[in-house]
Amino acid sequence: MKIKLQVIIETDDGQMETIQEVAHLERGCLQPAELGLTLVEAKTLLEGVQRAMVDEQIAEYLAGQAACSHCGKKRLHKGAHAIVYRSLFGKLKLHSPRLFHCGCEPQLSRTFSPLTELLKERTAPELFYLEAKFSALVSYGVTAKLLEEVLPVGHEINSATTRNHALKIGERMESALGDEQVLFIKGCERDWEKLPRPDLPLMVGIDGGYVHSSEQTSRTNSWFKVIVGKSITAEGSSKCFGFVNCHDLKPKRRLFELLKSQGMQMNQQVTFLSDGGDTVRELKLYLNPQAEHLLDWFHITMRLTVMKQFAKGLGAENCEARVSALKELESIKWYLWHGNVFEALEHIGYMEMEADGEIITGACAGKLRKALDELHTYIERNQAMIPNSGERWRSGEAISSAFVESAVNQVISKRMVKKQQMRWSKRGAHLLLQVRTKVLNEELRETFDRWYPNSHREAARVEKAA
Ligand SMILES: [Zn+2]
Repeated sequence: MKIKLQVIIETDDGQMETIQEVAHLERGCLQPAELGLTLVEAKTLLEGVQRAMVDEQIAEYLAGQAACSHCGKKRLHKGAHAIVYRSLFGKLKLHSPRLFHCGCEPQLSRTFSPLTELLKERTAPELFYLEAKFSALVSYGVTAKLLEEVLPVGHEINSATTRNHALKIGERMESALGDEQVLFIKGCERDWEKLPRPDLPLMVGIDGGYVHSSEQTSRTNSWFKVIVGKSITAEGSSKCFGFVNCHDLKPKRRLFELLKSQGMQMNQQVTFLSDGGDTVRELKLYLNPQAEHLLDWFHITMRLTVMKQFAKGLGAENCEARVSALKELESIKWYLWHGNVFEALEHIGYMEMEADGEIITGACAGKLRKALDELHTYIERNQAMIPNSGERWRSGEAISSAFVESAVNQVISKRMVKKQQMRWSKRGAHLLLQVRTKVLNEELRETFDRWYPNSHREAARVEKAA
């Protein structure tokens, strides 16, 4: 059989009808692979349908520009040039005429190109959308291959253009985010009291991860830090965020907007749990008057567990020291769990004295000493953030953001550190993180709809369903 595919375009008033042939298909004796459309046919069809549509749309648009909108006099032509527009369904070469402005009104220039002015971006929003979405999930190269395989995008799509486009979207998100502020707390206590009763506390876990740098200048800076976190409402809905700390100019704004989008009010309690690093501590300040900043129990217990392993490894020859170290570590954990930093530091001190006084041998002794030293500094520096976890735990309050570990994994590991050879510039990593978190939070489509309003995007689906 022969299948002829045509596009019929009717003008709004029903006066004109254009018929364009798009493709001819042939089918013989039915083979499984010949039922319906092949990928190549589908791509040809899509490209053809769009071409026919675009021709008419452009013709209609330019016809509307042919005469002066003020006096109706025909505008004169001053030549034309071709513009290239990249869409999901092929590269379009469009004929863009240059017209003289009518003399009936004063104008800034003598001529103008209506189509060039209409299509300021030479890439279709839908192409931007898919490039950004898939780049957030898989590599730029795979994204380009995927789009090329399933859509008639043309052969010019490659990992470099995909990367450029995805980062451009990231940049646009960045400029849509308001300026950084020192203080985000608005109003005063009396205003906050008038606010409606807030939801239960928001819990924000913040942690860091490392990605491989492409801007390495010495052996020590081959990695850079990425801050990642997750914010969870009492109902359990969560959103993640991420940024490259040494590149980001508005981390507080970022976090503030995220919490606001989750309904944060100034009279609502927000609990921040972190590992207590300096950057993180600084970042969280001034976001909310009811904020409490706590050292994540998860990070304390991780350190103690590692130290316990070292203590166990002290060996039979250090039996006495081993028993004593394990006992002390238990005490330190107990005091920290109850928020008794003073006693915990005392016991860390005892352990340090013991370690100095005795002659303990073996690799584990050295490691234990080093870890003890680090724990001392860590607890001392973060003592203001160590709560009575036992009490919090009994009353059902958050003590640990172990869930952030999965956020680190979800936000950066899967896309950015899976392969050792993946190297990132700080800017590239930061911008891609913005796109990636939008995708993970399921907000990318919404963002695009805001940027490119299109009343027909959903209409087709609705019509088909009806
Ligand atoms: Zn005129």
